[in-house]
Amino acid sequence: MISGAVNLSDLPTIGARLLAPVATTLLSLGSSFSLVALLSALAIAAAHLVGRRRARGRRTSLALLARLLFPKSIWRHPSTKADLGFLLLNFWVTGIILAGGLWSGSKISLVVGETLRRFLGAAPLSETPALIIVAVGTVAGYLAYELGYWIDHYLSHKVPAFWAIHKVHHTAEVLTPLTVFRVHPLESLKFHNILAVTVGTTNGVALYVFGPGPHVMMIFGQNAIMVVFFLALVNLQHSHAWMTFGGGLGRLFVSPAHHQIHHSADPRHFGKNFGSFLTIWDKVFGTLHTPDRERPKNLKFGAPALEPHGVTGGLITPVVEALVALKPSLRQRVDTGPARDMTSAA
Ligand SMILES: [Zn+2]
Ligand SMILES: [Zn+2]
Repeated sequence: MISGAVNLSDLPTIGARLLAPVATTLLSLGSSFSLVALLSALAIAAAHLVGRRRARGRRTSLALLARLLFPKSIWRHPSTKADLGFLLLNFWVTGIILAGGLWSGSKISLVVGETLRRFLGAAPLSETPALIIVAVGTVAGYLAYELGYWIDHYLSHKVPAFWAIHKVHHTAEVLTPLTVFRVHPLESLKFHNILAVTVGTTNGVALYVFGPGPHVMMIFGQNAIMVVFFLALVNLQHSHAWMTFGGGLGRLFVSPAHHQIHHSADPRHFGKNFGSFLTIWDKVFGTLHTPDRERPKNLKFGAPALEPHGVTGGLITPVVEALVALKPSLRQRVDTGPARDMTSAA
């Protein structure tokens, strides 16, 4: 008897397990890539495009609009095909890797809350009306997410070993909503652990100050503010639509153009706009670059890499480069040993 054999009666269960991450990604409002979020981005991009053309006295037929929104040069680009591969990796592999290596934000929150209570006494604002607690907790939790995102992203660009891994995201030569998935699994591990610390600590402080929750308004497992950004912004940040926000909006929010500047291959733009949806931490730490209303001429995306859109270049070479960055003496072995075959074949 072969213990690993698949029993036919198990097939529906296996199928359901394989389909579950796909369904969650596409159907849950707590997902940045839900069908609702994608349709919302499409509607905003179409309205923006038609509006800009109308302002210049040009009319836009439906056929032209479809060609402008889905240019073949982007959707058939090898970079987009690689992004699709990373999406599939996220469905079935990244989750398994994360499951084994994540710190628990809720455990951190309990430890922080209990430690503060032990040293400082009872919750000082436990009588605060629930509505105010939830409003404060939701905003504070969201700012903690933005801070965690900024710290992770800053370190990803400044620490050579982290850059080797993060570079995978920057080797995208065209940007589509799929590019958000173009992330090495090791980077996801670092990102989620940093978030567990910033968000968990903030929730722990809320637990101490206000007493037992709820402190945060959640929608499908996500902070409600995050869901608003999922619907309004996230899928436009990785796109070819050059959209800037004027006035107060432009000072507060990371527009699609802000993030496209972050992806620019022009050295003038390196190390700018690390924020997710708010410009607050880029402003605080001096890394904000506010984009012009018009797209810069010759704006190109991408970062130098071996086989940037292949499996070896996307998954293995970054790990080798990260190890070399951590231990430069390994470079000699990489240059002369079997690892060299791996990188030069990339
Ligand atoms: Zn980056
Ligand atoms: Zn990006």
